Amino acid sequence: MSMFEKNKMKGADFHRREFLKKGAALASVTLASGVTLMALSQGAAASANPNIRWGLLIDANKCPSDCNACISACSNEHGWEDTGLDTDPQWIRKVTLKNKNTGRETSLPLMCQHCEKPPCVDVCPTGASFKRADGIVLVDRHICIGCRYCMMACPFKARSFVHEKIEGQKTSSPRGKGTVEGCNMCVHKLDAGEGTTACTQACETSGNGAMIFGDLNDANSEISLALANYPSVELRDDLRLNLGVRYKNI
Ligand code: SF4
Ligand code: SF4
Repeated sequence: MSMFEKNKMKGADFHRREFLKKGAALASVTLASGVTLMALSQGAAASANPNIRWGLLIDANKCPSDCNACISACSNEHGWEDTGLDTDPQWIRKVTLKNKNTGRETSLPLMCQHCEKPPCVDVCPTGASFKRADGIVLVDRHICIGCRYCMMACPFKARSFVHEKIEGQKTSSPRGKGTVEGCNMCVHKLDAGEGTTACTQACETSGNGAMIFGDLNDANSEISLALANYPSVELRDDLRLNLGVRYKNI
């Protein structure tokens, strides 16, 4: 292929992305009385504080395999479980790791890791996958065309596709058929100044206290002090994605 043809193709790709973005920008899907995805995504991006990086530290030693409090809390907060659909997306799930040598099993919750360098954003052809200034990775469902490239690119299988029409959505966490979704770190709660997530609150209430949520950029925050004083790991640290979610005792 000649250099001219390559440049022409690059130009075509650029125009397609711009077209998709502009086309999407004109659309505004009403989800529930007075709530639109566009309003949500614009508000979410505009209110992010660039001085903060939100993060989560999970202590697997404090996470019993039979506890699902974080999953129930996430589902209640965002309305994704037991909605009568044939396919229930999972924004957060429990997984069990087994050491083949010792047989020791570790239970932990797994969700979007809010990568600093998110592969889902890299592959998204429309710009629907994006990272806010405070590190939260989101999907603008007005722009999402449902191609699911991001689902294939995510090393943690952290995103789900909505196959069916959704009824009775939460106005604070709108969803849409034909789009991709995943953990949004309860961005509506953070933007309301609550400073925590539904899963962290539920984990505290359960008495297990396996989760610490907070600002990774604040050296004096509880999460930063815990990371500074105890060993922790990032899942698949070989990928060098600098995750917003860290684990202890795995
Ligand atoms: Fe994207 Fe997956 Fe990383 Fe979340 S965990 S930011 S969905 S690549
Ligand atoms: Fe982007 Fe994922 Fe939507 Fe495709 S499915 S447009 S990659 S957010």
